[in-house]
Amino acid sequence: MAISPELRPLRVNMVELLRQPGAERSSSASVDPDVLGCIVAEGQASLRGPIEVAIHAVSGTDEVEVDCVIEAAWIGDCRRCLAPVSGVETIRVVEHFRPAVASRDAGQRDDADVIAVEGDQIDLVPTVRETVMIELPMAPLCSPDCAGICPICGTDRNSAPCGCSVEIRDERWAALDSLRLDE
Ligand SMILES: [Zn+2]
Ligand SMILES: [Zn+2]
Repeated sequence: MAISPELRPLRVNMVELLRQPGAERSSSASVDPDVLGCIVAEGQASLRGPIEVAIHAVSGTDEVEVDCVIEAAWIGDCRRCLAPVSGVETIRVVEHFRPAVASRDAGQRDDADVIAVEGDQIDLVPTVRETVMIELPMAPLCSPDCAGICPICGTDRNSAPCGCSVEIRDERWAALDSLRLDE
């Protein structure tokens, strides 16, 4: 099957590893999010720059364990004040792969934790793509206590208090005050 040359580093030769149980292989890949096919949801941060993947594969007797550490740099707008926000999400994912033929020979045992591989090569593209899309921050904040933009006058309340009274607490205080009056 044709594969973009840029995605080739996300392949691991499973057959070669399975020939020597205990064998380990480390590699790395740097891939463009568009080439990888990452689609971000509405309101989710956007990916910026290449996605870095550190791959470590270990061969067992009949399966290969692949440990990936993915670094995805992202950029977005604070959901409260719209200031630009950026960060790097580091995600670790461990998957197990086995030849599809071996899975069938094992008496149709449907092992949800092991991915059956057709052919010789493990393709980490779906694993990396899905992990990045799931873990990318939704609706980021510039800081956990961002004051946001005033809904009345539009001032960025992080830089200057505007004096508008948008105190939702008022009603609750009023209820407390009336309780105290009853006493
Ligand atoms: Zn903010
Ligand atoms: Zn205001």
